[in-house]
Amino acid sequence: MHVLIVQKFGGTSVADARRVNHVAKRIAHSRQLGNQIVVVLSAQGSTTDQLLEKAKEINPDASKRELDLLLATGEQQSIALMSMALHKLGCPAISLTGPQAGIHSTSAHGNARIKRIEPERITQELDKNNIVIVAGFQGMNRYGDITTLGRGGSDTSAVALAASLHADLCEIYTDVSGVYTADPRIVKNAQKLNEIRYDEMLELASLGAKVLATRSVELAKKYQVNLVVRNSMSMEEGTLVKEEAIVENTYVSGLALDKNVASVSVIGVRNKPGTAFKLFQTLAKAKISVDIILQSIGRDKTKDISFTVAKQDLQQAVQVLQAGKDSLGFESLSYDDSIVKLSVVGAGMASNPGVASMLFEALYNGGINIMMISTSEIKISVLIDARDADNAANAVHSRFFSQPVGAQQSQA
Ligand code: ADP
Ligand code: ASP
Ligand code: MG
Repeated sequence: MHVLIVQKFGGTSVADARRVNHVAKRIAHSRQLGNQIVVVLSAQGSTTDQLLEKAKEINPDASKRELDLLLATGEQQSIALMSMALHKLGCPAISLTGPQAGIHSTSAHGNARIKRIEPERITQELDKNNIVIVAGFQGMNRYGDITTLGRGGSDTSAVALAASLHADLCEIYTDVSGVYTADPRIVKNAQKLNEIRYDEMLELASLGAKVLATRSVELAKKYQVNLVVRNSMSMEEGTLVKEEAIVENTYVSGLALDKNVASVSVIGVRNKPGTAFKLFQTLAKAKISVDIILQSIGRDKTKDISFTVAKQDLQQAVQVLQAGKDSLGFESLSYDDSIVKLSVVGAGMASNPGVASMLFEALYNGGINIMMISTSEIKISVLIDARDADNAANAVHSRFFSQPVGAQQSQA
């Protein structure tokens, strides 16, 4: 019985020839140990951003279909180059685009979802002893057109392939050594977690920790994929993402910063039933997702409603509300896109009432003002000024993780 491993390498890990050769050696080594290997690659370095810039120069309003065709070339460069690097090492390898690898997706260009994978070509190539190198971040819709899966989507490709091939392991190689208690590039004392539950990882990912794409964690949980996040430049053990993790004595597993947030305030709406319904129906019709919602206490006949949206939806949100001003009946609109959402996440939070006050205390001590608050069973989020983001993350992190991970109980 072969052990089948899906190994995904992110953009930084394959940024230039030196790194491609380094990663090729690593892949070759895994194969020499007797494993079957499917590799999933991202575009090199900042290629995807550069391609987006190129498109913008030509047409700021480019068609999403054409954008997908353009962006998908980034991943295709990586897989062809990696295959060449493996051939140089004497390893049989073949590169496949998403469509060639049988990845079928919806038609939502720019944000398509994988519908199914027909893995026959991959299994044939594995049977021929090839290392199979698949372009991440891309699929094909039912018309045969190439699609992309949303930023960070190569993680999703890797986990979906691991699920479809019943792989024994899915390794996500990146530029940090695993999942940390906070983004290690922002929080100096962030600590690496040995294990984390799918649910907590899902929450961290959806709250802005981009180390794994949210959809990839959803799929890993759904298909119970053995997932590990590791550093492509070191042999250090990474973080296991699994159903049950050994962190029972930790009530906060990490914090996340989401910089892709904007808030809108609708001032002076009528203080009567149906107002919120009409407002959010208008946004829903425009396919705009709303996150945190805050409603002021009514005064006389009016009240204010504020909410947050993703930055890229701000302009459209303001437009559709302005267009409906008469029927919605508000006095004025204001918006702010220099804000961030800071969240603390942990499955043990529900049974530890002290968490919210610890968070607010840390922000107060740092002189940081809170604009909005939102809570769920396993997270608390606050909206703060973008200029405070890094200070706030460090202050909150020190409050929750002054002791090594796993020894926090005594702080409650
Ligand atoms: P890749 O190109 O390998 O997909 P990404 O840039 O998408 O890499 O994701 C890795 C980055 O995620 C890290 O460099 C780090 O800055 C960021 N990050 C954010 N939150 C966390 C966290 N909790 N743990 C680890 N990394 C995190
Ligand atoms: N290259 C794509 C991006 O930059 C996909 C990925 O890296 O996962 O978003
Ligand atoms: Mg990524």
